[in-house]
Amino acid sequence: MNRETKIYNTLTRKKEIFKPIVKNHVGMYVCGPTVYGDPHLGHARPGITFDVVFRYLKHLDYTVRYVRNITDAGHLENDADEGEDKIAKKARLEQLEPMEIVQFYTLSYHKAMKDLNCLPPSIEPRATGHIIEQIEMVQKILKKGFAYEVNGSVYLDVNKYNESFPYGILSGRNLEDTLEGTRELDSQSEKKSAVDFAIWKKASPEHIMRWPSPWGEGFPGWHMECSAMSEKYLGKTFDIHGGGMDLMFPHHEAEIAQSNACNNCNPVNYWMHNNMITVDGKKMGKSLNNFINLEEFFTGNHEKLERAYSPMTIRFFILQAHYRSTIDFSNESLQAAEKGFTKLMNAFETIKTLKASNKSTCDIKKLKKDCYAAMDDDFNTPILISHLFSGVRIVNSIKDGKESLNDSDLEMIKSIFKTFVTDILGLVSDKNSDGNDLTSELMDLVLKLRTNAKKNKDFDTADLIREELQKSGIQIKDSREGTNWEIK
Ligand code: ZN
Repeated sequence: MNRETKIYNTLTRKKEIFKPIVKNHVGMYVCGPTVYGDPHLGHARPGITFDVVFRYLKHLDYTVRYVRNITDAGHLENDADEGEDKIAKKARLEQLEPMEIVQFYTLSYHKAMKDLNCLPPSIEPRATGHIIEQIEMVQKILKKGFAYEVNGSVYLDVNKYNESFPYGILSGRNLEDTLEGTRELDSQSEKKSAVDFAIWKKASPEHIMRWPSPWGEGFPGWHMECSAMSEKYLGKTFDIHGGGMDLMFPHHEAEIAQSNACNNCNPVNYWMHNNMITVDGKKMGKSLNNFINLEEFFTGNHEKLERAYSPMTIRFFILQAHYRSTIDFSNESLQAAEKGFTKLMNAFETIKTLKASNKSTCDIKKLKKDCYAAMDDDFNTPILISHLFSGVRIVNSIKDGKESLNDSDLEMIKSIFKTFVTDILGLVSDKNSDGNDLTSELMDLVLKLRTNAKKNKDFDTADLIREELQKSGIQIKDSREGTNWEIK
């Protein structure tokens, strides 16, 4: 399917028609989590944003290789070149082996992504599994003269780099701006300039996670893993690089510099950044006591939460905003999202029971065109959702006998819901979050048994089925056309 799909490119600051390097194939790299704590909203947003990009491009018949890394070494506490490794610190505090921390939080991240119905990426490489590739890249950068070694650490020489390539093209900062925002070098510093960053760090005696290198025992700089792993799996230049806006500087800027310095070419054609999340209007932070992890949302077990919110409510809520806008989480907005989501899913169930008429009184072709146009406009999920709600209104009017659809239009609206709700937005009924139609199939079976019971004048059984379903929150309604059910 050849469509003109536009992507907002952070690098050029405009929407561009998406053209992959290799026809029909897309390489996409997204920065994944540093696995040292429970998954939270800050993980849910990029997870869901790029899941929808992945799903839509696949729907358009591209073969997509989606690479999302796991950072399990080299991410220091203060994101600069000092402080303790985040994973090693957690390991020290909990008296565990760093790889126990990595394993534990990788599994909880995977569980959270599965709960949110995010498809697994094609490849999920780990920093510690690619130390050799990172050392090789550091060696190449040194050879090209864009880095220098001091006391077992290697730094990228940003001033030198800036003579050949513009440093700061992604974030729109120039070198002077960057210098102003950087702390002055103290007399102890080994760096030539405060803007230089470590691509390999010497391990101090107490540093646990360490590997041998040509410069002695050490560990890679945090930015290095994404450059090395994206090149390994997607090539020197690939199509899409995604991540949260907070990673744009210094992380992504550093990735661009490392790749240019190593390969003399820009690593990425389209940079995509999702915006940030606030809770009750404030940035999330442990000290503000508004740091709510995903499991707490799912169980309601946090003092800021009035009750539990299902993974699909969180997913729907995130998709109600465009990925480049900020979102604010509050109990009210989540409850509103939950209502909207239930309405959408109920209409989806109702469609299955609708009967075709001789003529159509609604324009379903336009609805389909509008849905695609929304996704082709930089993955505009809120606009898509508003079109789907036009679909909900049509479905409910047909149910009430106010509108009608002929056979082919009825098939079309069914396929619109299946394509956009399930396949592209990845929304499934909460009782069915494994993504298949098991609930529907079971309900069809239960309703068939009830109809048979009624035919056999076994009204006790028919009533029992109705009452028991009601206890589970499922309401059934009999009408001339048959029996409908919905989750209340
Ligand atoms: Zn990264």
